[in-house]
Amino acid sequence: MSEHTLTVAGVAVDTRHWIGGERVASAQTFPDISPIDGSTIGTISRGTAVEAAAAVAAAKAAFPAWAGTSRAERARILHAIADGVEKRIEELAIVETTDNGALVRSHRRGVMPRVAHNFRFFADWLQSLDHEDFDTRGHANHVSWDPAGPCVLITPWNAPLMLATWKVAPALAAGNTVVLKPAEWSPLTASLLADIAAEAGLPAGVLNVVQGYGSEIGDALTSNPDVRRISFTGSVATAKRIAASAAANLTPLSLELGGKSPLLVFADADLDLAVDLAVEQYDNAGQVCLAGTRLLVEEPVADEFTRRFVEKASALTQGDPRDEATDIGPNIHPRQLEKIDGFVQRAVAAGARAVIGGHRKDGQYYAPTLLTEVAQDSEIVQEEVFGPVLTLQTFTGEDEAVRLANGTRFGLAATVATGDPGRAERVTARLVAGTVWVNCFFVRDLQAPFGGSRLSGVGREGGTWSFDFYCDLKNTVTAP
Ligand code: NAD
Repeated sequence: MSEHTLTVAGVAVDTRHWIGGERVASAQTFPDISPIDGSTIGTISRGTAVEAAAAVAAAKAAFPAWAGTSRAERARILHAIADGVEKRIEELAIVETTDNGALVRSHRRGVMPRVAHNFRFFADWLQSLDHEDFDTRGHANHVSWDPAGPCVLITPWNAPLMLATWKVAPALAAGNTVVLKPAEWSPLTASLLADIAAEAGLPAGVLNVVQGYGSEIGDALTSNPDVRRISFTGSVATAKRIAASAAANLTPLSLELGGKSPLLVFADADLDLAVDLAVEQYDNAGQVCLAGTRLLVEEPVADEFTRRFVEKASALTQGDPRDEATDIGPNIHPRQLEKIDGFVQRAVAAGARAVIGGHRKDGQYYAPTLLTEVAQDSEIVQEEVFGPVLTLQTFTGEDEAVRLANGTRFGLAATVATGDPGRAERVTARLVAGTVWVNCFFVRDLQAPFGGSRLSGVGREGGTWSFDFYCDLKNTVTAP
């Protein structure tokens, strides 16, 4: 085993970049720490502008051949990647859990199968993309979906491989080449993906993976004039930097950013269902962009809702995410934990009441928290915490519900619990959100447009919308 390999539960992971079909080491490394117990998993190549340039050059060199590969052949290779993921679900699950602390049971049964599905779905969707043909005064119009070129894909740590492949799969399916930059707090499964793609027969340079701190390698990727698309999932602050950097070349951007989504519970809702939906917002220790962290509950049922919520939330098991019985694992990093606690302590100092939680626990764990008596314009209601922290506000009637729900700078998602379909329709029509769930949560079809309004993002990905982003559409008009 080389000095550039680390092992997690017996799974070997190469710690170097993957550029042009070869492993490339940097002179410097950075430590990869497990949030489960703070132990160092290993050290990872710490990329700089040099590796960024090399990766984009490799993607550029590989582009013409890959773009010229038939749709059927691209789809065949994407399905082979999906096969490779499916064969390694257990390995991917344990590596990612060790790396980012998310539940192994979710990785085994939800996330990693979904990773494979990302490849299968976009491989198949590609086949159904129509070349539209229509006539203008006898002239034939023909619309084609041309691949755009090298794409830079930058992803966060909260669902590393899911979010990476949600971009990698359509970008490759469209005929583009890719430079993937995973988050420095969860670098490992992207490296395994490079192995799987190579084994599946993806030609050298079509998928490149570079590791490192965003602050050190990011600008060199996003300002490179050979890059034709940048798709980013992460924080608003980083998105602004990337947008400024991409502006130099007017590189088209897709931005999937943070949220502060509301979960509206009307008095006519099935209260048990509403409580289940609310408790679900603690999933992944609250590190979910879509989480409905603002519980908005109609006055007459607020006390009963709170009673049932506390009962259910108090029964959650918090602990080692490698244990199948665990419901809530650790938060990603000591810095993130401090940030979460800072939000909560400032809220409490400003008059909020912690009905449950409100404090750190041993290690990198934060007690699931519900804060009441919070003002709409307060920091805790307005800012994304990205931890297991929910607020509860009450409202009376639809107008107030909608006013509170829309009353932040975000617009990623919203959930509405009501027993009245007419109300669901009226309220949904007035909500500012990329996705609205009615009496459900987190049901996501890959053909649906996904993205956020306001500060939650720019553009939509999913199904045809992904191909819209990753392709240059061309209309050819031919005289009769
Ligand atoms: P982050 O913005 O700190 O980092 C995201 C990625 O950007 C990392 O890979 C990082 O290395 C990179 N990066 C940092 N600086 C960069 C720069 N100057 N240039 C280029 N890349 C740079 O975000 P995070 O803390 O990793 O993720 C959490 C955030 O992501 C939350 O706000 C969450 O809501 C959001 N998120 C959104 C979605 C969505 O689909 N809308 C999904 C998951 C997470």
